[in-house]
Amino acid sequence: MDFSNPEKLALLSPFELKDALIEVASRQSDRLMLNAGRGNPNFLATTPRHGFFQFGLFAMSEAERSYMYMEDIGGFPQRDGIEARFEIFAKAHPGVPGVDFIEAAVSYVRDQLGLSVGDFIYEMCEAILGCNYPVPDRMLRLSEKIVGQYIHQEMIGTHPFVGNFDMYAVEGGTAAMTYIFNSLRENHILEAGDTIALGMPIFTPYIEIPLLNDYQLVELMIDAPAENNWQFTKKELDKLLDPKVKAFFLVNPSNPPSVKMSDEVLAYLADVVKQRPDLIILTDDVYGTFADNFVSLFAICPHNTILVYSFSKYFGATGWRMGVVATHENNVIDEKIANLPEEKRLQLDKRYSSITTDPRGLKFIDRLVADSRTVALNHTAGVSTPVQAQMTLFSLFSLMDEAEDYKKSMKRIVLRRKEALYRELGLPMPHDPNSVRYYHLLDLGPIATQMYGAEFATWMLKLLKPNEALFRLAEETGVILLPGRGFGTQHQSARVSLANLNEYDYANIGRSIRKMAAEFYAQFLAEKKA
Ligand SMILES: *Cc1c(COP(=O)(O)O)cnc(C)c1O
Repeated sequence: MDFSNPEKLALLSPFELKDALIEVASRQSDRLMLNAGRGNPNFLATTPRHGFFQFGLFAMSEAERSYMYMEDIGGFPQRDGIEARFEIFAKAHPGVPGVDFIEAAVSYVRDQLGLSVGDFIYEMCEAILGCNYPVPDRMLRLSEKIVGQYIHQEMIGTHPFVGNFDMYAVEGGTAAMTYIFNSLRENHILEAGDTIALGMPIFTPYIEIPLLNDYQLVELMIDAPAENNWQFTKKELDKLLDPKVKAFFLVNPSNPPSVKMSDEVLAYLADVVKQRPDLIILTDDVYGTFADNFVSLFAICPHNTILVYSFSKYFGATGWRMGVVATHENNVIDEKIANLPEEKRLQLDKRYSSITTDPRGLKFIDRLVADSRTVALNHTAGVSTPVQAQMTLFSLFSLMDEAEDYKKSMKRIVLRRKEALYRELGLPMPHDPNSVRYYHLLDLGPIATQMYGAEFATWMLKLLKPNEALFRLAEETGVILLPGRGFGTQHQSARVSLANLNEYDYANIGRSIRKMAAEFYAQFLAEKKA
């Protein structure tokens, strides 16, 4: 590919752009490529993984209690006496990493959650062995309760919350998005030509999916501008008062600015929803666990909100494909489905008649499950059971961590990287109490101004074609950053993922950007002289 033509660079799709940047950055083989474009974390939670493997060994001992007269063959775990056998297993492996954890987890399940320990151990063994289809298909029975506690702790916290919510375990936030878009359409909640609002900037697929031929939705942008510390302005949120807006999709804390919605904005949005009781909200709170005392829109507007959460980022578990969708037991989507015109209701009765004799009683969240397997394969739907077991252990790990040591470590890791970046940029690190620092958006204008003054910044922004600075950075230094534009930011900016490189790499990135800015400044001075 030819990268010398800046006009062409501006036309690349986000994916082409990423590949092109990687190609340019890796041209010099004697130099390390620093790809800070990736959202994949380079850290992971160890204790709940140790727990998974130890639970797995116990599950194997359970399986091998059957068919002992045959080689290579085991049977299902047995519910009878399983608690006692688990205790013997735990006591036989004192101090082995993971064993103390699962022992404590079992105690927590009994003492704090009031669940049957025998049922829990049995469900975990069966799940880890993967010897049964996921039943119930939406989520394993105790796993739903335990992961539900975790979601409550992290997304709702001490915020008042009346009633219960249902969950569907899915193959990551990615699957959650795909399923939700699809089921909203199949159930006539979002139809071609409908308008949905997007909280901008946003994770790119939310911009791309609605425009696909499959959906043909009209997008309305609700801006959270840099000038407002990446918070939505009231004026922008007022756009949601228009009844033609059917749904509002947002990421909170945001990607890429990585800022959680302020309390003030949450309260204002709650007021907007009071005036728009029919508005559907989808909040993607994948990064919520990186914040202290996070309160999701799901807690504030439970009747209107579909919650998406993923374990990928916080537990360093992208390969597991692990997430959940949650909806309140009383929600506006179920109401809307119930109030569809009779002709559409009859059509949906037919659609779901293969799985229930009472299709009208089928909740939206169960329709998500059915639709995810083309309805007819509903009986084998559901995320794989070993994934559910690990998800349950991740949840228990967080629930038991009263001092929030893990959260503190996560926060410290990304904070130190951001500090290293700014130290080498030679600029004071901006402070925002709502920042969760998983990513950082470097806004080119303000940074150039801080470095060499406003006149230089204006000159530079005028000189640079979109993406040109990113290519120059990749070419000269091997550093890869993604353009904020791809995520719908208004200014020239670069997204630095603080999740996937080491501290000294961020120092190098800061230094590289500083060096490039100095070169531009030299050019600026030379032109000024001439
Ligand atoms: C990373 C990410 C996802 C995808 O998460 P997976 O669980 O890995 O599929 C979804 N939404 C946002 C905003 C993300 O940043």
